[in-house]
Amino acid sequence: MTRPTDVPLRADLDRLMGRLAQLADVGRDPHGGTTRLALSDADRAGRDLVVGWMHDAGLDVTVDEVGNVVGIRPGRIDGPVVMTGSHIDTVRRAGAYDGNLGVLAGIELVERLDEERITTERPIAVAFFTNEEGARFQPDMLGSLAYVGGIDVREALDAPSIDGQRLGDELARIGYAGPHPCPGSAPAAFVELHIEQGPVLERAAVPIGVVTGVQAISWQQVTYTGRARHAGTTPMELRNDAGRAAIDAAHRVHEIAHEVGAPLVATIGSLRLEPDLVNVVPGRASFTVDVRHIDDAVLDAVDGRIADAAQLVAREHGVDLDRRRLARFAAVPFDPRIRSLIEDAARRLGLATTQLVSGAGHDAQMLARVCPTGMVFVPSTGGISHHPDEHTDTDAIAAGFAVLADVVRRLAGDEERA
Ligand SMILES: [Zn+2]
Repeated sequence: MTRPTDVPLRADLDRLMGRLAQLADVGRDPHGGTTRLALSDADRAGRDLVVGWMHDAGLDVTVDEVGNVVGIRPGRIDGPVVMTGSHIDTVRRAGAYDGNLGVLAGIELVERLDEERITTERPIAVAFFTNEEGARFQPDMLGSLAYVGGIDVREALDAPSIDGQRLGDELARIGYAGPHPCPGSAPAAFVELHIEQGPVLERAAVPIGVVTGVQAISWQQVTYTGRARHAGTTPMELRNDAGRAAIDAAHRVHEIAHEVGAPLVATIGSLRLEPDLVNVVPGRASFTVDVRHIDDAVLDAVDGRIADAAQLVAREHGVDLDRRRLARFAAVPFDPRIRSLIEDAARRLGLATTQLVSGAGHDAQMLARVCPTGMVFVPSTGGISHHPDEHTDTDAIAAGFAVLADVVRRLAGDEERA
């Protein structure tokens, strides 16, 4: 006897691609792409459209106090849900796939289960979380952070927007200040389908990325203070050149990154010289360092090497050093069992996989605090994201959907066909 799970569930691609296109039309930006900043009028219109599709799919839809929307398809038993989903807020001039794919694929999954008259033991939930992008309110991933109890609800509601509004007021204004309590109940598991937003899968020509986790991030600012002097009259050996120190130290950061090697990435994103004039030896110079790695211990060791190098450079050039930590986020490893479920699903479907870390933040990293969590990546053409040219091939979306469906069905368990 074949169990229903042995037969892969394929998306109705006309429906799924049609909805992605329809949602991308909500908040069309005159400068290109789509702009649906969190809790804006465009976000309300996008939310209304997606909630409508959730109702059409027969989901029992609830909205919580911070505007997270969860639609539940009942299982044969009550109890914790197997949850999938993502976000539908966007940055400015965004593409059609970031976040939206994970939400619409979840709704598609529920509809396909209904069409195949398949029931699961556990309930399945499709969720979208408020303000994932952080383009209008800080912090980013605020909705999923509140959902897992990582931020007090009152604090979340008081978050100010870049245009001077309060998150709670904007929620009420667009009709998404829901009655459902937040934090929400912990799911049995969470799986998110998302575009990679980088070039790794396309370059490897692999359709499915098994995300091992979200990498740890360290941000720091290095500032040197020397003496501003005339560029023509001050001999090189009599200078305390803060600019030269900053440039040497920044160069050392890149050397250290190359010595440690992939998957470490290091970026000097800001470099400022003062007084920033063509004929003055800089009296002050500062730069920022963004370093990321999947392993917290490696990141700490790299930070230590950068600190030593920065100190050495200060001594060489006779300048004062001030080093300030701006941010440090720990790595979030995903659940090994869900990672193997993703690999098994891809193997059964004849799809090649590769493991990769997520370079960007996602709602899944918040859910990982309360339940076993995993992520499936599909390729981004040209590695482009947060841009109107963001694109993922329909074949890749079909593959990603089939893997997501398989993993969610196995987690929800013990299928029966009516
Ligand atoms: Zn996203």
